[in-house]
Amino acid sequence: MADTNGPAVLIPEYKAQYGMAPNYIDGTFTPSQSARTMPITNPATGGEIGTVALSTHGEVDMAVQAAQNAFPGWRRTPPQERTKYLFQMKRVMEDRLEDLARVLVQEHGKTLAEARGSVLRGIDHLEVAAGMPSLMMGYNLEDGGSAGVDEEMIRQPLGVFGCVAPFNFPAMVPFWFWPYAIAAGNTYVLKPSEQTPLSQMMIFEMLEETDLPPGVMNMVHGDKEVVDSLLEHPLVRGISFVGSTKVGSYVYSQATANRKRAQVQAGAKNHLAVMPDAVLEKATPNWINSFFGCAGERCLAGSVLVCVGEETHKQAVESFVALASKVTVGYGLDEQVGMGPVISASARDRILGMIEKGEAEGAKLVLDGRNPEIATSGCDNGYFIGPTIFDEVKPEMTIAQEEIFGPVASIVKVNSLDEALELIAKSRFGNSASIYTQDGWTARRFKYEADAGNIGVNIGVPAAMAYFPFAGRKDSFFGDLHGQGRDAIDFFTDKKVVVNRWIWNKESEGTWS
Ligand code: NAD
Repeated sequence: MADTNGPAVLIPEYKAQYGMAPNYIDGTFTPSQSARTMPITNPATGGEIGTVALSTHGEVDMAVQAAQNAFPGWRRTPPQERTKYLFQMKRVMEDRLEDLARVLVQEHGKTLAEARGSVLRGIDHLEVAAGMPSLMMGYNLEDGGSAGVDEEMIRQPLGVFGCVAPFNFPAMVPFWFWPYAIAAGNTYVLKPSEQTPLSQMMIFEMLEETDLPPGVMNMVHGDKEVVDSLLEHPLVRGISFVGSTKVGSYVYSQATANRKRAQVQAGAKNHLAVMPDAVLEKATPNWINSFFGCAGERCLAGSVLVCVGEETHKQAVESFVALASKVTVGYGLDEQVGMGPVISASARDRILGMIEKGEAEGAKLVLDGRNPEIATSGCDNGYFIGPTIFDEVKPEMTIAQEEIFGPVASIVKVNSLDEALELIAKSRFGNSASIYTQDGWTARRFKYEADAGNIGVNIGVPAAMAYFPFAGRKDSFFGDLHGQGRDAIDFFTDKKVVVNRWIWNKESEGTWS
């Protein structure tokens, strides 16, 4: 993360005002007719930069119908032709990467580096999904039934899929799903977070620059009403949800009760264990990125630093606080800024409430990020909280157990790796866990035993590349099937088994051996 040095250079905003974010239905940007709207706020300035309509049940139905109408033609388009549109999209996105990154900074509060990185991760998924002709292949067995009776498994698309996205990676998260879904021959309806709809508006403008047929990709803005409409719509075959555990549990139960496929990636509370042999000079910058990157609003963010042993704890606290207090807080369009604001005034107030709770429950505040110095002028009304670190945190405290989703670190001291693993096992979340050590056997044991879906060894944000699934367990993931990489194919296709007697007539009987 960047440090302050020299005067700030503020890269211009992409636009000052975006107006009303429209839906995208059947290949056309369509303004919502809903009476309910919400302001879109730039979290770094607190200023309004647009409006989003909270679309109606009828508008969701229009989008689903458009997707359903496009499905027969799209599934008949050969896989190698379908993936050509992904290559087109990749080229458009690469050309407009900087514009999209600036919109992301403006609507979400990321730094430019974080915004660029997240767009590149989205593009990675276009590339992996472009391998669909190989990913989608089935298998067969000659004479599998009996002599002359061959058997095969083929994969087929199901129809309309949908995604309900969170605010924290507004451009990237939908790419975890839709490229695979449409490359497999399905059609799609996306609902972005109502807090961050602008980057998707630009992404759909980019889709318009490709030759993708109308109706294959649709977008409906809104809140719970849109989600409920998708969950209830009989033509929607599957839902990918990413967001909080509370909403995710609801989405999973509704979707599965309505016989839809569902995959739910939910909340997190990630532990980073530090062994006595960890290389602290290298590990500490890694913790800064893990705990405070994206202002802590990342489901793989570090949340609890678990120090094994007295001396490890003492040194880790010193180095962590020293480096965290140097992080530059401000507007992400200033390239020197290392950490932006949190998403909204209510998120800021909730996080400040957690800091108060930590103090009230007896944890020791060793770095107080309340009222931070802001490096960028014009940001007095932004929603900033600086890096905050609590030491002497006990496992039963609220700040050690609940997801904070902000730049707040808790340090817990334990006596052994066993104790660290037990802490991780007891957490209701299981998104990720990391260990810092130089010892191969210790790392191997951690990898083997830690009860979390994504494991980091000397890495604080264990986000694997697009070829891998995004794992997660316990309250961090519901469902059996993942969206990303080659595993996506199981979610987005149905298996069909064919038992095939090639010729059945009198002459051919018994002539197959
Ligand atoms: P959220 O649950 O508030 O919202 C997610 C989506 O659900 C939004 O599109 C929103 O409109 C919709 N929604 C909100 N309330 C709803 C309701 N009552 N009924 C139906 N739909 C509703 O989550 P958020 O604040 O946008 O995102 C942050 C959360 O996402 C964090 O908990 C974070 O850990 C999680 N997250 C998880 C992953 C992962 O891969 N596990 C990745 C990113 C974010």
